[in-house]
Amino acid sequence: MQTLAERLPPVRGRIMFQEPLAPFTWFRVGGPADALFIPADREDLAQFLAALPADIPVTAIGVGSNLIVRDGGVAGVVVRLAGRAWAEVTPLGDGRLEVGAGALDAKVAEAAAKEGIAGLEFLVGIPGTIGGALIMNAGCYDGEIKDVLISAHGIGRDGRPVAVRRDEIEFSYRHTDLPEDVVFTHAVLVGRGAAAPEAIAAKMADFRERREAAQPIREKTGGSTFANPDPPGTPNQRKAWQLIDQAGCRGRRRGGAQVSEKHCNFLLNVENATAADIEGLGEDVRAAVRADSGVALRWEIKRIGRLA
Ligand SMILES: Cc1cc2nc3c(=O)[nH]c(=O)nc-3n(C[C@H](O)[C@H](O)[C@H](O)COP(=O)(O)OP(=O)(O)OC[C@H]3O[C@@H](n4cnc5c(N)ncnc54)[C@H](O)[C@@H]3O)c2cc1C
Repeated sequence: MQTLAERLPPVRGRIMFQEPLAPFTWFRVGGPADALFIPADREDLAQFLAALPADIPVTAIGVGSNLIVRDGGVAGVVVRLAGRAWAEVTPLGDGRLEVGAGALDAKVAEAAAKEGIAGLEFLVGIPGTIGGALIMNAGCYDGEIKDVLISAHGIGRDGRPVAVRRDEIEFSYRHTDLPEDVVFTHAVLVGRGAAAPEAIAAKMADFRERREAAQPIREKTGGSTFANPDPPGTPNQRKAWQLIDQAGCRGRRRGGAQVSEKHCNFLLNVENATAADIEGLGEDVRAAVRADSGVALRWEIKRIGRLA
């Protein structure tokens, strides 16, 4: 029988086998990818996907800031858009920017500020990439991706280009219905008006400070674990952190994982946690909240891969 290495098409980028994924996630947990592919550019990715046997699964990841990779690792090919080719930010005029899916959200916010494009400041505090932001409808403070997206572009599992306009996408709180078998390569964003770069920079500094005060952003974490059950603006909005606190889970532990004392919708890897510790603690919290308030919290963090 052919090995996975023998079945993969030739590429110009890099392919590594049995590559640990933990270093590529904020939680620093998880097993290896059967194969980890870092494409050189869009053409390399398209040719690879077109020639890849259909039974080999493909999973794209960003910088793993919203991800639990399970301890048994990820089957098939994991695609990571790392490097300059994937992180370009190109002004298109009229407040629009073409942004690579591998670009960090904060870099996009800074590039927009430099161009005097207002409305993208919220991206400064989200520690992911544009690829992850598209999938998650990432947002905070006064904006989310749905407010600034014109179109998302990627390569389908068959190697063909895919383009999706904003009005074709269903957005909800930290969720989009973008197809799961597309590796998104870039997006076109548009600002919400113009402002002096200094005014935009001041707003970004304010967002950064507020986040630092409220969240454990220097820990091994995946950010908000569960989506708020009610969208922003709902009267008497129920927040996940309040329900978790009320259920007595602040500081709760399982193995090396802990519910943050600072923000109890954040789970932390405090002491060499495994992915099973973190996911198990999340399920403990869900069960406690369900018993306390009857609410079934929905995981906002994506969990991928095999159990060990
Ligand atoms: C300290 C901290 C604070 C956070 N604060 C916020 C916040 O305020 N607001 C917020 O919205 N989020 C927040 N997050 C969560 C996270 O940063 C976002 O969800 C972010 O958009 C994830 O991007 P990523 O590149 O890390 O994606 P990953 O975590 O790597 O992946 C997330 C999902 O996107 C998919 N994906 C990633 N790239 C691609 C691609 N190119 N093509 C196809 N699919 C892709 C993955 O398969 C996965 O399903 C926070 C996280 C942390 C650790």
